[in-house]
Amino acid sequence: MIKRILVTGGAGFLGSHLCDRLVASGQDVVCVDNFFTSQKSNIDHLLDCHNFELIRHDVTHPLWLEVDEIFNLACPAAPGHYQYNPIKTIKTSVMGAINMLGLAKRVRAKILHASTSEVYGDPDVHPQPESYRGNVNPIGPRACYDEGKRAAETLMFDYYRQNNVNIRLVRIFNTYGPRMHPYDGRVVSNFIRQALGGEDITLYGDGSQSRSFCYVDDLVDGLLRMMSAGDDFVGPVNLGNPDEFTIRELAEQVIDLTGSGSKIIRARPLPEDDPTQRQPEITLARQKLDWEPKVKLRDGLARTVDWFQSVDLSRFRAPTPNY
Ligand code: NAD
Ligand code: UDP
Ligand code: UDP
Repeated sequence: MIKRILVTGGAGFLGSHLCDRLVASGQDVVCVDNFFTSQKSNIDHLLDCHNFELIRHDVTHPLWLEVDEIFNLACPAAPGHYQYNPIKTIKTSVMGAINMLGLAKRVRAKILHASTSEVYGDPDVHPQPESYRGNVNPIGPRACYDEGKRAAETLMFDYYRQNNVNIRLVRIFNTYGPRMHPYDGRVVSNFIRQALGGEDITLYGDGSQSRSFCYVDDLVDGLLRMMSAGDDFVGPVNLGNPDEFTIRELAEQVIDLTGSGSKIIRARPLPEDDPTQRQPEITLARQKLDWEPKVKLRDGLARTVDWFQSVDLSRFRAPTPNY
């Protein structure tokens, strides 16, 4: 059966790949985005499809539509982007969640919300299972995002318990791939741009902090599986790649793949509240969704490097000078 599916943040990095998959499978897709951290080039190729529709809209305002499913992805995700206008970030998370949950309640749609590993903050449990309640600084520079996402999780479960809204909650860990904003200031985009441009590769701190990087196709597969999971499994569920690398190892791999002559330098101290390690515990996703990432970091990085080489970087509008 063809479903009407709303993707908020659908022109963004993850959202545009999700729209690709949904359009290809014949669903009727409505993409809502205000283009704060994205550009139309991510979805240009979909605009002529009969089953794709684009609405420029800000999710902090109400939206009246009739749909069967909602993927709520609208929110700046990179630290440089979400710290540019922190008040707007927390409004997007909280008011966006309220509006999309209100919509889901009114039309009895199923709603999946994109939460984040940042709800675990700088974790003192490693790797992080879904039962871990986190170590978040509520007043620090990352709080607009972390606490906004935590409040959105609360709203999801309150609408579930109070209004019987059919929810799905995923916690996404660092994801990378083609169409990530080249100037988002995130580590993968910075390192690839720097390596391709022959610039120094900028480690923050000594590069011993770790992250686990998931390739976008794997992640989108997880989102789709979670949306179609049985109603007895609403999450939260971690989606990410458990292969953990230090940031210095990532820099070395990027240099190796690009054949770049760039030097790795210690550019600045570790930013405030920067988690020292992060790795998803994905047993639940394996058990409940039969999901696990398939793409190795090296292969995913190679595809991402190809994409960076194929685009004209001067055509990307940087939403923030923080890169
Ligand atoms: P992105 O910045 O590329 O995409 C977010 C999209 O939301 C953009 O197109 C942006 O223009 C749009 N948007 C922002 N504020 C909006 C608003 N008020 N109204 C309407 N649209 C708005 O980021 P992404 O990496 O694709 O992230 C998508 C979602 O996944 C986000 O909710 C993010 O928090 C979550 N997530 C991503 C990662 C990751 O590593 N990429 C990790 C954890 C969670
Ligand atoms: N809302 C929306 N689209 C809808 C239904 C509701 O954007 O189709 C918004 C509505 O404006 C409200 C929010 O969702 O601000 C929460 O709706 P809910 O019905 O839960 O709360 P109430 O309207 O009672 O405050
Ligand atoms: N980082 C870095 N150099 C950069 C950008 C980021 O060393 O040019 C580090 C950053 O301090 C963090 C890690 O890489 O420890 C991942 O940062 P990112 O902003 O990609 O995402 P986060 O996981 O912190 O949300």
